[in-house]
Amino acid sequence: SVELRDIHVSFGTLEVLRGVDLSVGKGETTCVIGPSGSGKSTLLRVVNRLQEPDSGDILLDGESVVATDADQLRRRVGMVFQHFNLFPHRTVLDNITLPLRSVKGLDKAEAQQIARDRLAEVGLADKAPYRPAALSGGQQQRVAIARALAMDPEVMLFDEATSALDPELVKGVLELMAGLAERGLTLLVVTHEMGFARQVADHVAFMDRGRIVELGEPAQVFEAPESPRLKRFLSQVL
Ligand code: ATP
Ligand code: MG
Repeated sequence: SVELRDIHVSFGTLEVLRGVDLSVGKGETTCVIGPSGSGKSTLLRVVNRLQEPDSGDILLDGESVVATDADQLRRRVGMVFQHFNLFPHRTVLDNITLPLRSVKGLDKAEAQQIARDRLAEVGLADKAPYRPAALSGGQQQRVAIARALAMDPEVMLFDEATSALDPELVKGVLELMAGLAERGLTLLVVTHEMGFARQVADHVAFMDRGRIVELGEPAQVFEAPESPRLKRFLSQVL
């Protein structure tokens, strides 16, 4: 499980997160929706310690991790970005084995075994020897997901993982993510895909101007929104 308590982040005079509380239970999926600039990416970056909070606490499985080493923490929290962030000059296989070797200290054979298993799981076993550029955007994103999964994280974060994809490639990646949710991984997913949030999430959090304005089960959030801001947001995106 992951829990955020009263997280504050400012950039200069701009308060980007203004006291965010959010918890995702073990095996649950929470989707974060909200307008551009509301702080969704910053929130994920705080969980992964790409962004230090000014104040507040972060707990993984009930244990505070704000004071632990960021590299240690990133072994436990996987993140998938909009733009894949694969190493362009390395093969698909190396993209997955390198972090296993450097971060987890596995030997080559162990790392390759895990990498091949994970690639097979995302349907890309045959792409191991290629460079990322030889793959479609959807395939590259599945490699990025396989790379995150290979670390065996306790929590997976997705930041608009399908936003950079051509429309016909979106579905495959969303199906893969839905499969992870189904399998009981703990997922925190920032997405513009309202259909995914509605069908896959256990809870949906609506962020606006650095706060979680509304949080509930998808049926509640989408069918019976309470705040005017969420109503307005949904009328624009649905
Ligand atoms: P989008 O839907 O467009 O991705 P978002 O909800 O993910 O938006 P964030 O990227 O978290 O929003 O940004 C929230 C606010 O913080 C924005 O106003 C952004 O310009 C600002 N911001 C984010 N990172 C920084 C930074 N490193 N320095 C200064 N301002 C930042
Ligand atoms: Mg963002």
